[in-house]
Amino acid sequence: MSATYRLAQRLSDTTSIVRAGAATFGDGGFTLVGGPCAIESASQIRLAAEGVRDAGGAMLRGGAYKPRTSPYDFQGVGDEGLPLIAEAGARTGLPVVVEALAVDQMPLVAAYVDMIQIGARNMQNVPLLRAAAATGLPILLKRGPSATLDELLLAAEYVLLEGNPRVVLCERGIRGFDKHTRNVCDLGGALRLRELTHLPVILDPSHASGRRSLVEPLTLAAAAAGLDGAIVEVHPQPERALSDADQAIDLADFARLAARVRAVREVLEAPALAVVT
Ligand code: PEP
Ligand code: MN
Repeated sequence: MSATYRLAQRLSDTTSIVRAGAATFGDGGFTLVGGPCAIESASQIRLAAEGVRDAGGAMLRGGAYKPRTSPYDFQGVGDEGLPLIAEAGARTGLPVVVEALAVDQMPLVAAYVDMIQIGARNMQNVPLLRAAAATGLPILLKRGPSATLDELLLAAEYVLLEGNPRVVLCERGIRGFDKHTRNVCDLGGALRLRELTHLPVILDPSHASGRRSLVEPLTLAAAAAGLDGAIVEVHPQPERALSDADQAIDLADFARLAARVRAVREVLEAPALAVVT
């Protein structure tokens, strides 16, 4: 192959392990990240964190600055969300991931989080990629809604070239033409990514589908297919969520999802049945 992504390309069977606090991606397990689309209040993020921890989730997510399509929609609580999610993470022992939207947010975000998310809209924002890389923290890099796999890998290459090898890629759905799902969940593309790169690859079934009814089955598909994890929008009261309410699942549903993921992985990891004669 042409070595266009020299540092990201897969050269062996070994997937790189990326650690973010106590969470690990790429070690052969299925790492579940859960939490609300947006941090809304101390009690909301704390309840979400407790639910994610009790379900066996490995990491807490929550947006402080929200990249909304409409400027009239809730934009996130901003800087003041960072201590709220850091505190919820510390109480529950969960590492936290938060999206940074701008270079000048990077020092503050980096002071509070274990992993920095670069969102779909910013996948090719080179100054942002470089600033995130320079923090030395692990980066969760989401695929742009119309980005090819090569473009995603080249975006990751910017982080790697900066001397930061800690990148996890995330398929979050690409733009399609049908209104019944928010995006098209490109599971095949995510699996092809795992062939192309040694970096861990996870799925965001929430943005990929936009519908809470599809979050669990898509996560189970990702777990069965051998991806490295999923990042799921979970809210203590989904119907009251200030952003992405239609795709948020509640804590009980997240617990069920996590249990089913474990069941799927156990089946896959079980040794082949011996034939008893
Ligand atoms: C999010 O994770 O809440 C988000 C805005 O995701 P994306 O960048 O994939 O749209
Ligand atoms: Mn969201």
